[in-house]
Amino acid sequence: MCTTGKVIKCKAAIAWEPSKPLSIEEIEVAPPKAHEVRIKIISSGICGSDKSALNQIIQTNFPVILGHEAIGVVESIGAGVTVVKPGDKVIPLFVPQCGSCRACNGRQSNICKKFEFAFGAQSGLMDDGTSRFTCKGKPIYHYASTSTFTEYTVVSDICVAKVDDRAPIEVCLIGCGFATGYGAAVNTAMVTKGSTCAVFGLGGVGFSAIVGCKDAGASRIIGVGTHKDKYPKALQLGATECINPKDYDKPIHEVICEMTNGGVDFAIECAGRTETMMTALQCTYCGNGVAVVLGVASPKDTLCLHPGLLITGRSLKGSIFGGYKGSDLPKLVLDYMNKKFNLDHMVSTKLPLERINEAFELLSSGTGVRSIVVY
Ligand code: NAP
Ligand code: ZN
Ligand code: ZN
Repeated sequence: MCTTGKVIKCKAAIAWEPSKPLSIEEIEVAPPKAHEVRIKIISSGICGSDKSALNQIIQTNFPVILGHEAIGVVESIGAGVTVVKPGDKVIPLFVPQCGSCRACNGRQSNICKKFEFAFGAQSGLMDDGTSRFTCKGKPIYHYASTSTFTEYTVVSDICVAKVDDRAPIEVCLIGCGFATGYGAAVNTAMVTKGSTCAVFGLGGVGFSAIVGCKDAGASRIIGVGTHKDKYPKALQLGATECINPKDYDKPIHEVICEMTNGGVDFAIECAGRTETMMTALQCTYCGNGVAVVLGVASPKDTLCLHPGLLITGRSLKGSIFGGYKGSDLPKLVLDYMNKKFNLDHMVSTKLPLERINEAFELLSSGTGVRSIVVY
């Protein structure tokens, strides 16, 4: 039955209020308006940032449909959409690409001026100030320009990247976690051949950073994490050793500096804690170490550092979505399909939408790597 132009009733996981389990509900998804795209979601990963939004570390309005790491198929398009057509396989983009701002016109940044998260609180609404989702007569907010914990979503046409039609379900990870970690190594840190790296936080982003460091030719990659059961997978993906801060009675940056003749060349923070961000900087070599912050801290958190840490030549950087623009994703997907890297190792659990709260529990316990909802 053709659904174009009609309201679609489908299942979605709604966060009615902060820090509570999601609730599976029937929702109505309105047709896309001008310059909007309605997408049937195929699979969606559960990212640390979804947990952070649920717990209000990332500011968002409630009730909301979370989820931002997905792959799907275009169901229908609104007037004026030229970038995709019904039937196209797509990755929704939580970092828009408007095509006309300073970032979109240059190569140096992916932070499009339409990226609300970078410039303040998210509205959770489409450009016309309304939502496309309704449940029990109430409008439900969008999240991160994407909202993928639903069978159907609507996004702006600047928040969608067309990818290869053969891309399998694991490619949802390229919609956030994989691109974020991998890109942090190859685009932001610019890890060099033969270098020494440390990756803090062995979740989906951290594992992807390890893959990026390996592909960039690092000769030593130290995974730093508190769950030893994840070490075999980290080693399989490219870590050369893994250490647990809890095993030492001195600060872990001192341990790493001793292990590496004064510090690593590159450290990538993927745990989302200000302590690990500082540790990442402190464990880099004083002369030219580069620390990259990926983890999202709460709005109240601050980093307090002595300028002396930087004056000898260290740098502290950060990136969102690994510095990638939506237009970079087709190539990243092809690289995966041509076996440049293996995303399948990163998927620790596949669940139906009805069991999404189990995925949040796995994420909170730190035991899984990446759970994906398969629709
Ligand atoms: P995740 O799966 O929850 O992974 C975070 C990991 O950090 C946990 O698995 C935990 O595992 C580890 N951790 C916690 N405390 C630690 C500590 N004290 N020392 C070392 N490791 C610690 O989340 P994720 O999806 O990988 O995301 C990681 C962070 O990146 C989150 O803050 C998320 O919001 C952020 N993020 C940022 C971007 C971006 O564009 N910049 C994109 C996606 C996500 P172990 O203890 O086993 O290591
Ligand atoms: Zn732009
Ligand atoms: Zn994410």
